[in-house]
Amino acid sequence: MKDIGPKTSVLDRKIMTTIVHGKRLMTDSLPKVCFYCREKEATAPYVHAGIDEVVCSVCLKRLTARDALEDRLTEIVTLESQGRYDDALARLNVIFEANRHLDDDQWLARSIAMHRCAILVDAERFTEAEQACRAWAALGFETVDLRWLQASYLAQVLDALGRPREALAVLEEALGHRDPRYLPLARGLLRQVAELSEELGQMVAPEWRHLAEAVAKRFRVELPVGDTLADSIIELAKITRDLRPAFLDEWERDEGKGGRP
Ligand SMILES: [Zn+2]
Repeated sequence: MKDIGPKTSVLDRKIMTTIVHGKRLMTDSLPKVCFYCREKEATAPYVHAGIDEVVCSVCLKRLTARDALEDRLTEIVTLESQGRYDDALARLNVIFEANRHLDDDQWLARSIAMHRCAILVDAERFTEAEQACRAWAALGFETVDLRWLQASYLAQVLDALGRPREALAVLEEALGHRDPRYLPLARGLLRQVAELSEELGQMVAPEWRHLAEAVAKRFRVELPVGDTLADSIIELAKITRDLRPAFLDEWERDEGKGGRP
């Protein structure tokens, strides 16, 4: 039998591959994996706010865009609290224009859209706020909590613009999207549903009772008994105001996975 010598090790193969592809000179170690995604090869240092790691090029862009916004959020929130809304909005625009080339996944665009919406609601500039809310929605939502936050703002805006029926429809559509991780946040939207229903002189749709009961359980209380479902939901918001909801794993342990709404 022909001697084919020792088997090539994984490390040897990796070195051979990299030489074949001409990407790097001889190396005696495997490429490092990106600190953030843990998938791609780390190709650049990332040093920020006490972190000193190596990351891939995709994550480097994402992190640089994120830092550009987050490093200035305190300043923006301060301007907002001083009523300097246009200055706060201008800061957001500057950050976006300076970093949009890094925004391959539109994280920055979505985050800026969210802050614009929040600032305009706070400023009670409702016509502009409606546009901002809709622009945010057009960029899509990565998670249900952000979808709910947008719906909460938009409902507030539409109600202020004298369109409570549209506001209610926005909330009910958003509550149709679920993720048990964010269930405690449904409390605020349900309260808005209850208040808008009362304003419109109509009953809260009975389909929301099950969700309200699930939210109550997450806060380790029973849904209060009221004359109407709206009363129960408003009371639930009051009695749980200072309570910490159970974490998802605690809740699942108590309720079992079948308890998910
Ligand atoms: Zn990465």
